[in-house]
Amino acid sequence: MAEVKLSETRDLTRIERIGAHSHIRGLGLDSSLEARAVSEGMVGQTAARKAAGVILQMIKAGKIAGRAVLLAGQPGTGKTAIAMGMAKSLGLETPFAMLAGSELFSLEMSKTEALMQAFRKAIGVRIKEEAEVIEGEVVEVQIDRPAVAGAASKTGKLTLKTTEMETVYDLGAKMIEALGKEKVQSGDVIAIDKASGKITKLGRSFSRSRDYDAMGPQTKFVQCPDGELQKRKEVVHCVTLHEIDVINSRTQGFLALFTGDTGEIRAEVREQIDTKVAEWREEGKAEIVPGVLFIDEVHMLDIECFSFLNRALENEMAPILVVATNRGITTIRGTNYKSPHGIPIDLLDRLLIITTQPYTEDEIRKIIDIRCQEEDVEMSEEAKLLLTKIGVDTSLRYAINLITAAALSCQKRKGKIVELEDITRVYNLFLDVKRSTQYLMEYQSQYMFSEFGNAEEDEA
Ligand code: ATP
Repeated sequence: MAEVKLSETRDLTRIERIGAHSHIRGLGLDSSLEARAVSEGMVGQTAARKAAGVILQMIKAGKIAGRAVLLAGQPGTGKTAIAMGMAKSLGLETPFAMLAGSELFSLEMSKTEALMQAFRKAIGVRIKEEAEVIEGEVVEVQIDRPAVAGAASKTGKLTLKTTEMETVYDLGAKMIEALGKEKVQSGDVIAIDKASGKITKLGRSFSRSRDYDAMGPQTKFVQCPDGELQKRKEVVHCVTLHEIDVINSRTQGFLALFTGDTGEIRAEVREQIDTKVAEWREEGKAEIVPGVLFIDEVHMLDIECFSFLNRALENEMAPILVVATNRGITTIRGTNYKSPHGIPIDLLDRLLIITTQPYTEDEIRKIIDIRCQEEDVEMSEEAKLLLTKIGVDTSLRYAINLITAAALSCQKRKGKIVELEDITRVYNLFLDVKRSTQYLMEYQSQYMFSEFGNAEEDEA
């Protein structure tokens, strides 16, 4: 029974995880940054992937700030997929924030505030804390009850002998419980975390050196003047500047981090935090980890947003900005001027531009293979061949979309493998852009506000 439940849960999680880019697990590069033909869910687009890999190296080195990259190419040529690949290749500690240009106009805050929040979500702070741990050999354990494990006991005493002195600890109920779990006796070597009261048994006194070694390289031993042997353990927390902002913003409070309803954060709060972080950096308590901010559909930004970006990139803590667009020469929003990709020349001049190319038939076939695997769809060779042809004639995205629909059609006829008939069926059910446009041209007179042709002509 338990097994059935487990597999059910696994299936559910799997279904939830299938998204448009869930098959992308990295950039698929080898150690010399050459793109493997098919790797980590990535197919083809080798030059762009290699270029993205170089950028990734710069990010990982963590030394540069304020660089910006533009991924430019036709629709469906993998710009978002490459950005996802970059995100997956970064360590968990490097923040990656993503937003679509159009999102800026739908939030209940000013565009520049939304951009500022996105920027700060992409700047990580590694905060180092030293936890103080006292450790030594237990000489005597006295608890009200004879059994150490007595959780019911409320008080107790523990005599701990460190190198030169003996310390008597009054134990609270929680400590006694912890001791009980560890079954501490005289002769044991234990560590007590002063802040949390957590007790860890390190071993018996004779095995001491070996146990110390096992504590790992992050542990430092400090000999204090009073002879107490203290062990300091470095604890590292990674948060983003945005998280610190929200936690310290009195109007929102930290719960807003979970709801996402952060509202506008006052400039003074940010200034205070920047000052505090600068102090921590000087004291060696914190370091800045510039992450990646990815803005898809960047042509949707207007001139105000672009000038904000220009300014924000000057900041020494700025993350790496990666933007993507499928537009050619078009109007810059908020102006009457045209510019390549709808981006003002001054920002364009800062960008390292990576272009993506349309896929070959063979590459489309491979991406379809990967997507079938990802969606757990079994498909016959002929069906895949037809789907590839459809992908070449229409678009990669349309072909990928048909996989799920064809699998449903197969399920409906109680089949196990998606066959040609399923592909043909869904191809006829769902129109691609070309056929849809053709249909509109034919029947446009029957639609409202039609601007093509004229009604008289149609009647005739
Ligand atoms: P648009 O300009 O319309 O936003 P895009 O260039 O961002 O398009 P994607 O969304 O990245 O295109 O690609 C469309 C689909 O094809 C996605 O599901 C993506 O994961 C997949 N895909 C694109 N390129 C590749 C690739 N090289 N390898 C594997 N999958 C890819």
